[in-house]
Amino acid sequence: MKLLYIPFDHLHRNYGVLKNADPASDQIVFVQSERMCDPSKWNPIRLYFLISSARHFARQLEAEGFTVHFMVAPTTRDGLESARKKTGIQEIMSAQPSSFRSEAMLADAEVEFVENDFFLTPRGLFHGWADGQKSYLMENFYRKQRVRLNVLMDGKEPIGGHWNFDKENRLPPPKGYQWPGYFRHTPDELDHQVAQELRIEAPLDWATTRDGALMQMDYFFHTHFAEFGPYEDAMTTENWALHHSLLSPYINNGLLHPSEVIEAAKNRFKMGDIPIESCEAFVRQIIGWREYINGMYWYLGADYRNHNQLKAERQLLPLFDHPEKTSMNCVRVSVEDTKSRGWVHHIPSLMVLSNLALLTGTNPQEFLDWMRREFIDASEWVMVPNVIGMGVHADGGQMMTKPYAAGGAYISRMSNYCKPCAYDPKLRTGDKACPFTTLYWDFLDRNRDAFAKNHRMAQQFGGLERLRDREAVKERAQQVLIGLENGTI
Ligand code: SF4
Repeated sequence: MKLLYIPFDHLHRNYGVLKNADPASDQIVFVQSERMCDPSKWNPIRLYFLISSARHFARQLEAEGFTVHFMVAPTTRDGLESARKKTGIQEIMSAQPSSFRSEAMLADAEVEFVENDFFLTPRGLFHGWADGQKSYLMENFYRKQRVRLNVLMDGKEPIGGHWNFDKENRLPPPKGYQWPGYFRHTPDELDHQVAQELRIEAPLDWATTRDGALMQMDYFFHTHFAEFGPYEDAMTTENWALHHSLLSPYINNGLLHPSEVIEAAKNRFKMGDIPIESCEAFVRQIIGWREYINGMYWYLGADYRNHNQLKAERQLLPLFDHPEKTSMNCVRVSVEDTKSRGWVHHIPSLMVLSNLALLTGTNPQEFLDWMRREFIDASEWVMVPNVIGMGVHADGGQMMTKPYAAGGAYISRMSNYCKPCAYDPKLRTGDKACPFTTLYWDFLDRNRDAFAKNHRMAQQFGGLERLRDREAVKERAQQVLIGLENGTI
């Protein structure tokens, strides 16, 4: 007899350590660690999703005949030791965990690993690709994935004649558009019990079972898929998720495997009514971005999360925990949405929240911890490259050749946030100046030396040189930074 340890992000019967599991020879251990499940430290919506999904999955394994030990303990290590004592079984096996920290802890607890097959790209294969690159361009990796996995290929050529249809996408939110409704999930008694323990109402936005995740996937492919591409970067207060699939939480906790999602996308595309720009954009997220981010996490190593190349030392701004402390409409809406649902899509996440952390010089690790705490799908392997490499450019350009820094003009073009805002995206000085616009120029000014040799930023620095009111911008930037710290901007 042996114990199989199932982390809360390995909830699939056919993958990881459960692939060849048998109730006659294996018992199951889950650990709900108090460190990772404290509602005063983590967004309760995130905890609800992770805990309730794990408890439902534990029930499913029990129904199959497994003996399941669902341990609640101060730490995962404590839970595993308690399971050993309780059962008298010393041998514990698990699939390779999804973070360096878990890997070290489990290895120390003498847990044996089988391969983590919750991704489409084995870690060794990604290392081989990365070792051969001068710069780790996602687009190059993605094209290799299309060929290797035979997705949207017509022989050796990409279907539709191009690898990437982003030029057709990137549209702002359309005016007077009828957004289809969202799939509402029905919480069961176990969901309500978990929600009660966390002192929240069970949310209707998220499923906590594989059946619910499959329903969400089916709904997306039949209701949102066709329009996904063109509006994937748009932001609007009229609709919180636009045509996004909302599948990342289920792929990240194991309720869905990426191969199942890709198979479903291919089958839906074959029906003939899905534009290639939507299908390609979706496929890129799954076989491109997701795999690339996980690959880079393991490739760049455990110390990568500690980078702070721009020497950003500002403490996390109070608005990240108290969105009412800012009059910046885009920021307030994005933080409120994140808190209430545990999710906003990649553009508010990158171009509003991360952009604010970048431009204000917020300490990367403080901001990373906030993102990990708040987002329902924020695994360590997702957030470390996403924040350190993409969001706040703390790695000196190891991952991205230039920072994702933007002023108010980008947010104004891609959203309806600015009209009711207290600030004007076109202004960079004065009381009505958009803080993003002011801080954008100030960020370039402050970091001139760091980017002096970066040719991809020549145009931005050319713009800075042409500013005639540079001193006034710097002065306003200081007022904005003090105002943000005091909760008055
Ligand atoms: Fe955000 Fe600036 Fe637009 Fe206000 S004006 S919503 S702060 S981008």
